Amino acid sequence: MKLIFLGPPGAGKGTMAKRLAAARGIVHISTGDLFREAIANKTELGLEVKAIIEKGGLVPDSLTVRLATGRLAAPDCGKGFILDGFPRTSAQAEALEKFTAVDAAVNFELSEAEVVRRLSGRRLCPSCGATFHVDFMPPKTPDVCDVCGKALVIRKDDQIEAIRNRLAVYTRETEPLISFYGERGLLKNVNAAPAPDEVFAAVRKIL
Ligand SMILES: [Zn+2]
Repeated sequence: MKLIFLGPPGAGKGTMAKRLAAARGIVHISTGDLFREAIANKTELGLEVKAIIEKGGLVPDSLTVRLATGRLAAPDCGKGFILDGFPRTSAQAEALEKFTAVDAAVNFELSEAEVVRRLSGRRLCPSCGATFHVDFMPPKTPDVCDVCGKALVIRKDDQIEAIRNRLAVYTRETEPLISFYGERGLLKNVNAAPAPDEVFAAVRKIL
């Protein structure tokens, strides 16, 4: 089974992808991991990606497509895969379509208010790396690490301004993808607001 997972930051698609990949015996490919691995392994593409990121540039579609399709050609993808974070643009989706057909694009839907609540509630201990959430996993004492007692912080990415930026970028890039897969009859919408077990059950049901 060949799947694409779409969804805004905080919708839990990475978690769902891991669970479904384990349940189905297929491979979970996240673009972030793909970039990190290529850079760590110092492959030719990895070095190109590294040079671009270090200059603060955006990795071009052509390079992302080469990395992703290279990974998809590996033997362990034979039984199927879940792509998480790729394709991100229509150009990438068109390139993927030429490379292989997918069975479905699962779109995890979450309201902007809920995305903000989930991401802005995250807290990190800068000392030991423990993570908390003010609603879902609150520390025993507000803003204090349960493990080491240091003051908790909000990561830069989880500040309200940054969240709104990430969401704006996501919406701009992904809306064309939703139409792309909708037109091909491959789009499956899932409500990502309920508890993870319920969302996971819904995903299994639609596939
Ligand atoms: Zn700590």
